[in-house]
Amino acid sequence: MNVENNRVVRFHYSVAEQGQEALENSQGGEPLAILIGHGNIIPGLEKAMRGHAAGDTFEVDVAAADAYGEKRDGLTQRVPKKHFEGQRLEPGMQVILNTSHGQRPVTIQKIGMSVVDVDLNHPVAGKDLHFTIEIVEVREATDEELSHGHVHGDGGHHH
Ligand code: ZN
Repeated sequence: MNVENNRVVRFHYSVAEQGQEALENSQGGEPLAILIGHGNIIPGLEKAMRGHAAGDTFEVDVAAADAYGEKRDGLTQRVPKKHFEGQRLEPGMQVILNTSHGQRPVTIQKIGMSVVDVDLNHPVAGKDLHFTIEIVEVREATDEELSHGHVHGDGGHHH
C-alpha cells in the first residue's frame, strides 16, 4: 500500500540542517504517525512521502519555504515572566511556550525583570533541511481519523 491522501503513515525520521549533523531523530523511540493530505507535517516532507510504501527508506532535501518557512522579522513578543514557570532562561535558548493556540517553540531574546522578549519564528525557520525517512507502516485511515484530521492510537493522538 502506497502513501497517498487519507492514509495513515507511521515513520521514523532524522532531520538535520543541510550539511550538518542531525538535530533530532525518532530512532529508538516510537515512530511518528501522520494523516496524509491534512497538513499534519511540513508540505515538502509530505510530498516526498507520496508513493512510498512500508519498508522504504529515503532521503530528501526540503527548502525552507517548503519546511518551516522563511524567518520573519518583527515576530518578537513580550511575555510575562511567570509564563515560564521558574525555568532558568538565557538569551538564544529555545523553550516551549504554552499559548492560547497550544504549545509553541520560541527563542528567548531578552530577559527583563518581569517580562521576556521571545522570537516566535520556528527555531528552524529559514533553514534548508535534510530528512532521512523510514516508512514503518501505511494503512487506510478510519472515518473517525478523517473527521478529526489526525491519527489516533500509536504515534498519534490519544483522547
Ligand atoms: Zn481525534
